[in-house]
Amino acid sequence: MDESKKKELLLKLEASRKNYKLQLPSKIKKIEDTWELLANNPWDKERFNTFHRMVHTIAGSSGTFGLPEVGAVARQVEILVKNQQELDEEPSPQLREQIFNGVMLLVSTTNNALQTSTEPPPASNTSEQQGSSQISREENILIYLVEANEKLSDDLATQISHYGYSVKTFSTLLLFKEAIKIAEPAIILMNIILPDGDGCELLGNIQKNRPSPIPTIFLAEQSDLTARLKAVMAGGEAFFTKPVNVTDLVDKLDNIVEVDDKEPFRILIVDDSVSMAQFFSLVLQQTGMETVVVNDPLKVMEPLDDFRPDLILMDLYMPGCSGLELAKVIRQQEAFVSVPIVYLSGETDLKKQLAAMSLGGDDFLTKPIQQEHLVLSVTSRVKRSRTLRNFMIRDGLTGLYNHTQTKEFLDMEVERAKRNNTQLAFAMVDMDKFKLVNDTYGHPTGDRVIKSLARLLRQRLRKSDLVGRYGGEEFAVILPNTDAETADKVLNELRVAFGKIVHKYKETVFSKTFSCGVAMYPGHESGTDINNAADSALYEAKEGGRNRVVFAKNS
Ligand code: GH3
Ligand code: MG
Ligand code: MG
Repeated sequence: MDESKKKELLLKLEASRKNYKLQLPSKIKKIEDTWELLANNPWDKERFNTFHRMVHTIAGSSGTFGLPEVGAVARQVEILVKNQQELDEEPSPQLREQIFNGVMLLVSTTNNALQTSTEPPPASNTSEQQGSSQISREENILIYLVEANEKLSDDLATQISHYGYSVKTFSTLLLFKEAIKIAEPAIILMNIILPDGDGCELLGNIQKNRPSPIPTIFLAEQSDLTARLKAVMAGGEAFFTKPVNVTDLVDKLDNIVEVDDKEPFRILIVDDSVSMAQFFSLVLQQTGMETVVVNDPLKVMEPLDDFRPDLILMDLYMPGCSGLELAKVIRQQEAFVSVPIVYLSGETDLKKQLAAMSLGGDDFLTKPIQQEHLVLSVTSRVKRSRTLRNFMIRDGLTGLYNHTQTKEFLDMEVERAKRNNTQLAFAMVDMDKFKLVNDTYGHPTGDRVIKSLARLLRQRLRKSDLVGRYGGEEFAVILPNTDAETADKVLNELRVAFGKIVHKYKETVFSKTFSCGVAMYPGHESGTDINNAADSALYEAKEGGRNRVVFAKNS
């Protein structure tokens, strides 16, 4: 999708969100009124159906328009209503009261949500986006932590929140139960036993009524087999005994949310038939993929560079040149040697299919193509090629880009900044006195500290920022579209945040700091220049006493 289209789409979305919010109070008011009529008159089944429909609509739509908490409450009311409808009789006084309470909660939740919901910055305003580039993961992932020991609970919450998770703590099952009715977390962290009951049991019940379980990690005082079994039976993803190793726990959390693989698949569709291309595009978009359509095969090069597709879906027979020829040209370019190509055609002649494969094409789908088949085939190929690519360009310990790849990105980003007339910051980050960690606590502990800094960098920076591991305990960060002032703020916030992370070795705890050297474009005109300047600035930071950010003077 090109930028202007994206903006247009975002603006449209934004407008529809606003509109929805404007209309919501009157819709909620209608629900309230309808319930009042129902409650104060002889039972009216037809009206009850209307009530159900109204609640159902809110339940289904609020989340889409940025008010998930309203949607969650409406869903609860809807469940009450639906169960009753199935019975096909008048609701009992208890149920009436429950529904009434639900409607009241819906009213107050809506009011709160509309008051606190802040509009995202307008997509058309780039300076605004730059201003909001302080360290923040695009959205924090919500975790509910249910643990009676408040000291442990606060401690864990603080540690986990350093990694970009937002943690709400609950000391009893009751409080947790109430909260989960209103808004659901992405992950639950729960002690198997709480003062007011058995965590495993409650969780088992919660999960039973859901289409897919909320990933849950159990905590326990000790690791006995019975406890582990109970946790597994309640659908626990993992089991941690106290004292909890935070690094391992965060590893597990990351694993569950798959921080990196959130990026949608990018598919380039090359087909001279406008309607076919459109159809493929819609099918793939429905599953969350991003697509770009090219109807004129001779215009394929430009989107290749800009869009960087994970996979190309290519028609075999097109005017001007065939899909096979086009594939040859594409693959002549270093950057696209390994992009999988899937050919689409009415061709059932096996020989021709095989010829296509030998030219580097990876698969062959015969029209008419079933939607599921298309999606499955694209998905599995993209996954495989992303995995392979990751091996080549990423560092094994941290999952960050390796040295070579980071430098390549730096060159590319400097060129892009030149083209677009934007600023760019490049930072080198090196841990202070890291050798001491290895010497005192051993290499495995050192590795864990390296991983914790990697994770912090990856999670607290913007998606568009690039983070690489440059060497042992040294990292590189590319901040495109960033001025020196913002870079200074961001990097210092990271520095402070890292200093607050508590690392553990057996019973001892310790913290580490890092030093950082930064160089800017403009000021340094090539990747190599920026790299050298940042390196010198880093040296200065070390000489100046460490635990600081130093900017290179512009040359
Ligand atoms: P400073 O940067 O503050 O000057 O001191 P330092 O102790 O961090 O500097 P130096 O670069 O001399 O030491 C870096 C150490 O990092 C040396 C090496 O033992 C350790 N190291 C490098 N790679 C790894 C790794 O992958 N794992 C672990 N555990 N240690 C590593
Ligand atoms: Mg160091
Ligand atoms: Mg070093």
